[in-house]
Amino acid sequence: MIEPPQITCPYCWQSITIEEPPESDEPIEFVTDCEVCCRPIRVIATWQQHQLDLQADPE
Ligand SMILES: [Zn+2]
Repeated sequence: MIEPPQITCPYCWQSITIEEPPESDEPIEFVTDCEVCCRPIRVIATWQQHQLDLQADPE
């Protein structure tokens, strides 16, 4: 069973679930709104050997 990816909101520190980004050789950067505090989070998704690494920063 595949768990949906989660990030920690850099504003309110809640764990939020995001849509899994497509696998890519290049880091994928996108902005998503925190579902708790509604502030924009800049997410950098990096795939390494089919493992997803997520970094969340304030926008
Ligand atoms: Zn938040």
